[in-house]
Amino acid sequence: MQKKSELAKYSSTHKWVYKKLGKANSRKCFSCKKKHKRMEWANLSSNYKREIFDWVVLCNPCHQKFDNSGFYILKKEKLEKLCIRCKNLFKVFPYREKTAKFCSKLCSYPVR
Ligand SMILES: [Zn+2]
Ligand SMILES: [Zn+2]
Repeated sequence: MQKKSELAKYSSTHKWVYKKLGKANSRKCFSCKKKHKRMEWANLSSNYKREIFDWVVLCNPCHQKFDNSGFYILKKEKLEKLCIRCKNLFKVFPYREKTAKFCSKLCSYPVR
C-alpha cells in the first residue's frame, strides 16, 4: 500500500523534473563533472521535493555510489539550527534546513 503510493509520487515527480529541468543526458555529472551514456536526475533530500535545488544530474556510476552512501555528501556546507527538543545547536546540510528539527535520532523520538 505504502510502497505503491511512494512509487506513484516518485514517477510523477520525475516527470515534473524532466519538464522543469530537461533531460539529464544533456548535462554533465554534478559530482565527477564528466559525461556518461547514462545520465540521471538524483534527488538530494530523498523526499522527491518539487524544488529545483533538490535535484542534480549524476552519471550512472556516481548515482549508484551516492545511492549507497547518501546524497548528503554532495552538499558540503552545513548550517546551524536549534534542536526543538534539547535546544542544542546542531549542524544540518542546506537541503535539510527547513525540515530538520532535532539534533539527533534520540531527540526525534516521541515522548513516552
Ligand atoms: Zn559522475
Ligand atoms: Zn536535541
